[in-house]
Amino acid sequence: MKLQEFPMVVRPYILPSIGGRMEYRCLSCRLRHTIDELLYTCPECGGVLLIQDLDEEKKKKRPGEMWRKIFDYRRMSTLPALKGVFTFHEFIAPVIPLDRILYLGEGHTPLVAANTSLEKQIGLPFFFKNEGQNPSASFKDRGMACALSYLNYLIGRKGWKQVLAVCASTGDTSASAALYAAYLGERVRSAVLLPKGKVTPQQLSQPLGSGAAVLEVPGVFDDCMKVVEYLADHYPVALLNSKNAWRILGQETYAFEVAQALDYDLEHTVVFIPIGNAGNITAVISGFLKLYRYGLIAVLPKIIGVQSHHANPVYRYYLEPRKEKRKFRPVQVKPSVAQAAMIGNPVSMPRVIQLVEEYNQTAGKQKIFVVEVTEQSIMDHMLLANRNGHIACTQGGESLAGLVQALKQKKVSRQERAVLNATAHALKFSGFQEMYFENTFPREFGIRPKKRFQNRPLTVSAGQKRAMTPTKRKGKDRSYQQFIEKIALQVVELLGI
Ligand SMILES: *Cc1c(COP(=O)(O)O)cnc(C)c1O
Ligand SMILES: [Zn+2]
Repeated sequence: MKLQEFPMVVRPYILPSIGGRMEYRCLSCRLRHTIDELLYTCPECGGVLLIQDLDEEKKKKRPGEMWRKIFDYRRMSTLPALKGVFTFHEFIAPVIPLDRILYLGEGHTPLVAANTSLEKQIGLPFFFKNEGQNPSASFKDRGMACALSYLNYLIGRKGWKQVLAVCASTGDTSASAALYAAYLGERVRSAVLLPKGKVTPQQLSQPLGSGAAVLEVPGVFDDCMKVVEYLADHYPVALLNSKNAWRILGQETYAFEVAQALDYDLEHTVVFIPIGNAGNITAVISGFLKLYRYGLIAVLPKIIGVQSHHANPVYRYYLEPRKEKRKFRPVQVKPSVAQAAMIGNPVSMPRVIQLVEEYNQTAGKQKIFVVEVTEQSIMDHMLLANRNGHIACTQGGESLAGLVQALKQKKVSRQERAVLNATAHALKFSGFQEMYFENTFPREFGIRPKKRFQNRPLTVSAGQKRAMTPTKRKGKDRSYQQFIEKIALQVVELLGI
């Protein structure tokens, strides 16, 4: 829609006003730092950072109803800069001018309702939000669009010739970082560190295809993260892990979109998020809090984090009910089909601890929980979902397994409805599906395939090894006709037609 065609009430606000004041806030020592420098940790104490908007009070003067109108109408704008996560420009990074924003088609992913049969089997209505429909096929694109737009803005302001962007990854961060960096061309060179043999071939192909330097490191993600942190501390590189607080801002838009898709009515709504490095759950908690403070939603939804028993440090932390007694201990991860969340020492843990407190306090009761699920349950529920028309990855299966577990533990009731994060596209993790179908999981996964979910191709050969081709004279070739007939009859038999 053209700007002059928007209704008068929203027309002056469709284009956001650029500027405002933002700063990094250290979660440990509380010091504030200017956003004019690339910072990932507090220069004073090494603590993790979040970015605070200093104009919140001013913005709060606009009623929540007006904000809702602006964001709803803005989705009809054809301006590329406002079509993705920056639909919510004022709420994420108002300092970035529109001409520095990257838009590769991220965000506004669909909320797909479970069909009646699946709803019945699980016991309550629920949706998958398909984050696999982002450009690099995972939710990481939300954060990357914001972080790279900010970097693009800084490059312009500082007149930098070239920046080297680095990240450690369980697969999807590198795919996303490499994609957005490739779009910026010469200005951003990208290098990604991956744990050797612990990302899927599809995920490995992505940064390679985007032209990033791909460095495979012996070990697990947590080791790669340590190397990248060392680089960021000692060399002039831009870090693109979720330690980079700009990524958190971009990923908050997941919460904004859930609210928008449900007409901002989040009563009796439960949101499920798989937890790895805990950046995403940080963003989702922070996003809903923002909507609440600005008056767009009247109720904070319940949030349930999900972890595999093979990578469960956050679950373990919250097992202790008494706050004062809780102590965070990293865990040694075991192989997990939820490989993108196979992290034993989540970088965002201090953010989670603080935001969970704030969320529960604001809600006036406990609204955030963490559940643990088995590897078996993750695979079974991913396959169950996909047999009912979804495109959930293993982490999406983890979300559904988490819903089933939360119901069992009465953390969720049948009167509620759930939104499950299918964090990436199923195709990225098809290797695990194959292991399930062929019963070739290494023992340490502890997964036994269920017959009813297994599926494999059947060969229809009509007794011959090679395919036949018709001769030029169509319809005159008897042996070819016989071949087709034989095959057809075998298909009839196999399918019981
Ligand atoms: C990164 C990732 C996760 C974990 O998210 P965190 O922010 O690290 O907690 C889950 N699923 C997929 C597909 C991912 O790429
Ligand atoms: Zn500090």
